[in-house]
Amino acid sequence: MPTDIEIARQATLIPITDVAKNAGVPDEALIPYGKYKAKVDTSHLPDRPAGKLILVTAINPTPAGEGKTTTSVGLSDALHRIGKKTMLCLREPSLGPCFGMKGGGAGGGKSQVMPMDEINLHFTGDFHAITSAHNLLAAMIDNQIYWGNPNDIDIRRVVWKRVLDMNDRALRQIVGPLGGVANGFPRESGFDITVASEIMAILCLASDLADLQKRLGDIIIGYNRKREPVYCRDIKADSAMTVLLKDAILPNLVQTLENNPAFLHGGPFANIAHGCNSVIATNTAMKMADYTVTEAGFGADLGAEKFMDIKCRLAGLKPDAIVIVATVRALKMNGGVAKNDLGTPNADAVRAGAVNLKRHIENLKKFGVTPTVAINHFHLDTDEEIAVIQEMAAEFGTDAVICKHWADGSAGAEELARIVAAKADAGAPEFNQLYPDDMSLADKIRTVGREIYRADEVHIAAPLVKQLEQWEQMGYGKFPVCMAKTQYSFTTDPGRLGAPTGHEVEVNEVRLSAGAGFVVAVCGGIMTMPGLPKVPSAENIYLDENGQIEGLF
Ligand code: ADP
Ligand code: MG
Repeated sequence: MPTDIEIARQATLIPITDVAKNAGVPDEALIPYGKYKAKVDTSHLPDRPAGKLILVTAINPTPAGEGKTTTSVGLSDALHRIGKKTMLCLREPSLGPCFGMKGGGAGGGKSQVMPMDEINLHFTGDFHAITSAHNLLAAMIDNQIYWGNPNDIDIRRVVWKRVLDMNDRALRQIVGPLGGVANGFPRESGFDITVASEIMAILCLASDLADLQKRLGDIIIGYNRKREPVYCRDIKADSAMTVLLKDAILPNLVQTLENNPAFLHGGPFANIAHGCNSVIATNTAMKMADYTVTEAGFGADLGAEKFMDIKCRLAGLKPDAIVIVATVRALKMNGGVAKNDLGTPNADAVRAGAVNLKRHIENLKKFGVTPTVAINHFHLDTDEEIAVIQEMAAEFGTDAVICKHWADGSAGAEELARIVAAKADAGAPEFNQLYPDDMSLADKIRTVGREIYRADEVHIAAPLVKQLEQWEQMGYGKFPVCMAKTQYSFTTDPGRLGAPTGHEVEVNEVRLSAGAGFVVAVCGGIMTMPGLPKVPSAENIYLDENGQIEGLF
């Protein structure tokens, strides 16, 4: 089987103007960025009733790979194949991790979005704009402190750091500015990767430019000497930041390998943020197509929960159908098989590991939606192993459909498309969020811990509860909570696979994202600036004699 980049290179792309035409984007709304990428000016789109929304989520991720993005692309292409007007909505990947060890973020095999090298690297510059807007605010904070500190900012309590789209552990904690009087007042700070910026979360939740600017103004950059919050608005940075983001807020149009349209827009972290593409792209897609397929980051315990409790809540959306991706390999790992033994048939291990899938299905039913299982087929999967997953799905009164889109493109996901389209047409009238807006912040955290992670106990230390109560008094009590936890397990221990019971969740830290509109509960260590591995993939990335990129994936 050729690699993703080899398949991508053999693809026949059509001009982005044709993709737009097929998707119903009028000429005046299209802003081409070269031949195969464009932004869409949403103000020039015809108004039509919103179509159905289909969420793609997954079991807990393992190193064996699940393929949410690949399945989202395959499903979207398959919906086109059976004659359904469909839009695909995905996140744009981060550049930094491409040089570490992560695979691309543009799908795989015969189910990819194109041009994958550009998508994974600079793309249309959205991340550059976010980095610039973020660092403009950082520069203006230090500049205010330098010029007499009119907002009386306590330099020990500045929470706004700087960002860069690069895996660079050397920047995690820094002291600066150094070098004397002319450079300002030294203080401790650090860098996060751009996707962890609150501005990324804001861009993805804003409904339009005016809302974007309001949310930017609401960012808390730190505290003054009386311990009162100092806002971005007080630094007078919000309007200039909006200027920097005016193009980044427009969704990016690209195409799949089968020349079907896709929006790739925004890419917030799935731990300290909500991990799904922009509300603007989703809303726009739903106005353009009868079916919109979208993905949420990590497993359903984190990604789907946040999709529904944060994105859907804040944007007034709801999924009409949910697809949960599972693989024989990943279930085997959940059943205790080591990564090197995944090639050996082992239906018993699939059965043992299927408890993970089962729990995710039970959890999704708490939102009032019964998901369809997509078995993302790998070539060594046996019929017996697949039958185990299908039996289990039947227990829940749902389907588990074998999907071969990675190997065969849309033809491999036709059955999934038919089933999911029918379910989306029926809709999810029972849809509900896990907790109401007016539950206390501490109880929202406890509810997710108990209902989704199935913890016996959720510990929030007294000072943290006090902090949450203070935020409620400041008017942030209606915010949803954004859980930052390992993606590998229902518990806070990445090594506990399957469906563990008898565990406790400890909240180590709470953070207020006042601009984005949620409160982050950190459970366990969360890295907001990744490092590079011992042998980073960058060492093997180069341009060949024809100027083509080699070694990217
Ligand atoms: P996710 O979105 O869940 O992180 P991706 O869709 O990005 O996962 O897939 C992760 C990797 O696994 C990609 O490199 C993709 O090519 C590979 N992959 C996905 N599905 C299959 C499959 N059925 N067979 C082989 N490789 C696959
Ligand atoms: Mg993905």
